[in-house]
Amino acid sequence: MREQIFTFGQYLHRKFGVKISKVPVSISGFTCPNIDGTVAKGGCTFCENDSFSPSLDHTRELKGFFLNLHSTSNPNLEKQLQQLEWQFNALSKRLQEEKRAEKYMVYFQSFTNTYAPFDTLKALYEKALSFENVVGLSIGTRSDSISDETFKYLAELSKQTEIWIEFGIQSIYDETLERINRGHDSANVKEAILKAKLYGLNVCGHLIFGLPNESKEMMLETAKEAYSLGIDSVKYHPLYVVKRTALANEYARGEFEPISESLYCDVLREALLLKPSHVSVQRISAGIDDESLIAPLWCKDKNEQIRKINKSLELIGLKY
Ligand code: SF4
Repeated sequence: MREQIFTFGQYLHRKFGVKISKVPVSISGFTCPNIDGTVAKGGCTFCENDSFSPSLDHTRELKGFFLNLHSTSNPNLEKQLQQLEWQFNALSKRLQEEKRAEKYMVYFQSFTNTYAPFDTLKALYEKALSFENVVGLSIGTRSDSISDETFKYLAELSKQTEIWIEFGIQSIYDETLERINRGHDSANVKEAILKAKLYGLNVCGHLIFGLPNESKEMMLETAKEAYSLGIDSVKYHPLYVVKRTALANEYARGEFEPISESLYCDVLREALLLKPSHVSVQRISAGIDDESLIAPLWCKDKNEQIRKINKSLELIGLKY
């Protein structure tokens, strides 16, 4: 009998007693300090944000308008709030019909969702929490882009509702973070996670396996370190190359070799064995099924990835 991996869906079901789906939203005006030149330009070498955004044309409505932590005004707040509502209504309806979702968490997914003036963040988060059947928020961000004011505010909110922060950890190795132009070091992300935990917030850590020049041992060290920092949930991803990224150029020059499917399955299996049982799993695969994917081609078909991963997990009596 194979044991089911503890998933985030199970965590939410246990807590709320009904099926809860995350509703990803992508709000115009949000960017990233690693793209706008504040810490670097161009972003992480693998980042072509459309590859992991919901494909909603409304998100492009305010093209050219960008906020940051020091913006003194926001002339487009009303439009951002409308976008949020439109996206939530459309996607929650679809999730209700297709996945039988009964309640929702609003997931601020694209770019850096604490990288805007505090008043803007507060207005957007509170609007999201006002929607019918919303039980909480999950906020994707960078460790160098969340102010103490926002931490304190989220800590207060978390006394009444479910609040998660998602940090991209990716790797604990600074040489890797430099190589991918991450724009912050691993000490920065450790500090932010520990601070979030001190504030009593739930933290999901994103890990990438297959980063340039990383061995299996390094990937597993990253997983161990992430668990030891006290993350409550985890997303594991293989690194894949998409068009219009710096990584695509490195790949074309023969400077980057993507992780093989069998090595990814091995690393993932061992990372799951090392994982404390209370840490829920939100993702074990990633890919993109369109012409933007360059390599590795096994990242094209997510169902096939899950099938192969499950086959590999048989070895340790687990299933996803
Ligand atoms: S932190 Fe995220 S949004 Fe910013 S450049 Fe890196 S991958 Fe892109």
